[in-house]
Amino acid sequence: RYRSPSNQRALGYSVEVAAKLNPFELLDADDRPRLTAQFAALAARPGETESFEGRFRHANGAWHVLEGTATNLLQDPVVAGIIINSRDVTERRQADDAVHKSEQLYRTVAQSFPNGFLLVFDHELRYSVAGGSALAAYRMTSEELEGHTIAEVLPPEICALMEPVYRAALAGETMIIESEHEGRTYLFHCSPVRDAHGGVFAGMVMAQDITERKRAEVEVQQAREVAEAANRAKSEFLANMSHEIRTPMNGIIGMTELTLNTTLTDEQREYLGMVRLSADALLVVVNDILDFSKVEAGKLTLEVRDFDVRERFGGVLKILGLRAAAKGIELVSEIAPDIPAVLVGDAGRLRQVIENLVGNAIKFTARGEVVVRVAIESQTAEAVELHATVTDTGIGIAADKRQSIFQPFEQADTSNTRRYGGTGLGLAIAANLVGLMGGWIWVDSAVGKGSTFHFTARFGVSAAPTAARAATAALRLRHLPVLLADDNAATRRSVSALLSDWQMNPTTVDDGPAAWRELQRAAALGLPYPLVLLDAHMPDLDGFALAQRIKATPGLAGATIMLLSSTDLPGDAARCRAMRIGSYLTKPIQQSELLEALLAQLGDALQAAPLLAPSRPPGNSVAAPVRPLRILLAEDNNVNQLLAKRLLEKRGHHVAVAGNGSEALALLQYGTFDLLLMDVQMPVMGGFEATAAIRLQERASGAHLPIIAMTAHAMPEDEARCLAAGMDGYVSKPISAQTLFDAIARLVPAARERPSEAA
Ligand code: ADP
Repeated sequence: RYRSPSNQRALGYSVEVAAKLNPFELLDADDRPRLTAQFAALAARPGETESFEGRFRHANGAWHVLEGTATNLLQDPVVAGIIINSRDVTERRQADDAVHKSEQLYRTVAQSFPNGFLLVFDHELRYSVAGGSALAAYRMTSEELEGHTIAEVLPPEICALMEPVYRAALAGETMIIESEHEGRTYLFHCSPVRDAHGGVFAGMVMAQDITERKRAEVEVQQAREVAEAANRAKSEFLANMSHEIRTPMNGIIGMTELTLNTTLTDEQREYLGMVRLSADALLVVVNDILDFSKVEAGKLTLEVRDFDVRERFGGVLKILGLRAAAKGIELVSEIAPDIPAVLVGDAGRLRQVIENLVGNAIKFTARGEVVVRVAIESQTAEAVELHATVTDTGIGIAADKRQSIFQPFEQADTSNTRRYGGTGLGLAIAANLVGLMGGWIWVDSAVGKGSTFHFTARFGVSAAPTAARAATAALRLRHLPVLLADDNAATRRSVSALLSDWQMNPTTVDDGPAAWRELQRAAALGLPYPLVLLDAHMPDLDGFALAQRIKATPGLAGATIMLLSSTDLPGDAARCRAMRIGSYLTKPIQQSELLEALLAQLGDALQAAPLLAPSRPPGNSVAAPVRPLRILLAEDNNVNQLLAKRLLEKRGHHVAVAGNGSEALALLQYGTFDLLLMDVQMPVMGGFEATAAIRLQERASGAHLPIIAMTAHAMPEDEARCLAAGMDGYVSKPISAQTLFDAIARLVPAARERPSEAA
């Protein structure tokens, strides 16, 4: 303390100063000797001023940093002493300290920044922090940068480039820029640095050398492209293989079928039968491999269509039943009655799963039975989950194999392979299909006792079961000629509308005699009506009398007759029964009722014939058609040409052969044909191109030549492609005689066998 005896007050111990000074009671122990020495030295130098700084303890106990100047006033004659002028800089020091620490932190981060660098700059675009291994690539060091503005250290062109980016960061924007430098790629991430209140007090650049990453990305992309190309090549290869294998298979299976229909010794018949079996087995393997490759490629998709459950199960179990019977095993099926009649889903794939499980069950069972049960697992208004089981009394499966058999190429016991054959793909495909159908597949088994395979699958419940059935029926009834005789015009109109709805071919007449004339005319042309709907009560010649006449006439007797009556007279039904007329409908005729009756009457005759083809006696399957057709066959493969020609000729058709599409076009100029059977893949001009040309010509003439595609491509999209190309039907090779004849009959109805012959 310094006092002036004359003017103590003027010395500054004013109230304010005292208030400011007094609370500081203690000088920091470390600072005390330093400041004492400093002031003592100053006391010896009159008139001089020095800065000082020291830590003082406030009365409240907190330490403060005071910074100030000390002036030796000894020069002054009046006042002697040192004037201390100080201010409290504690907060600023703390802030400086914090900034220093954070800069230190940034610097540490920057120095160790891997594969890049970190820069922090202020509002003057001056770097406060710079570091990182990649600075070297730019030939700069931390020391050169720190404390300098970008204008001072960056080359002008880079400075011009970076300045707007830095300014944007200081304005609060973040920018990401990729830049090349001497063959390396850097990713610049330029962003604002904010204080606790959100204010931007600096900008920051993080640069990362991403050369390796880019290279890796390019490599991954290239690898992916190569893999995709390989996969495409694989799919193409499989499609081609399927074509290449199916084409000769067509020849083998077809020629064997033809030869089996000729006179053979027992020995020859046996050998050929084995050829036929082997060829069929080979086809199964080819199909499995195709399916599996589709599964692998994720290409397997399910159809969503209405289907009749019982009909589907019935169809597949009928064939499997034959196979079981051949081994002396009984195949029993129980389909729960509460399963809705029409479900929505992929019936073909469901059939494939059943076929695989039941096929396996038969294969691995030497005696006993195979039982198929289908029941509802759960149900909502729109969907149903089915639970199917296939139980056999066969060899069983060891516990450790019950999982792996669902893997591709896995068989429970490889020594079985030789005994039972098989690829080990069936269950893998089935498991995949079941998965696509929203279900599970698993197996319970006891070795030596048998196995039970379970699977669940979800299906929609058709909202319009009748419509669905009508749709199924319409397929079967399509193009079927029908004669309708009724004296009531309204009935004629309404019933023929129903028939046309199902794409049948109705002809209407208004009385009995007219009906009789039409029936005879058609029969004389070799096109007798397979179905006749007669009004029971007509003037002149009524339905009963007409029916009797039809039944008594040899050329007409095969027709299915249905009587329609407006009065439900008790005697009528009895007369129908006596005359063995199957159906008697009361007007007004309900659509569903008529359909039921039609299917009941024609059902057997219309049943998909190929299912039963193998069991037919050979003589019957080559029965002469009602009308021989003139068929143009476009096919390049000699064996297939011969095969298709023989099949068709045996059927009574006339066949002209073209070796490719352009030959077919030429032949069409010279002759008239009822039908064109078109191979899709041919040299010179393929099937699609030829079809397009034909359809174009027809646009002028208004004609339409039915074209059936014959192709070894068995992918589902192939059928759609054929139809889209303007073809009317599709048969896949190897061609089964019955499938081909059915396809022909669908398109050229006159070629259909009379129901009586088919039955
Ligand atoms: P594949 O029958 O062509 O060999 P699958 O995938 O259909 O192929 O079957 C795989 C294996 O599972 C069979 O080889 C057989 O070992 C076993 N397996 C399948 N079903 C049965 C069954 N019902 N009884 C005994 N073993 C079976």
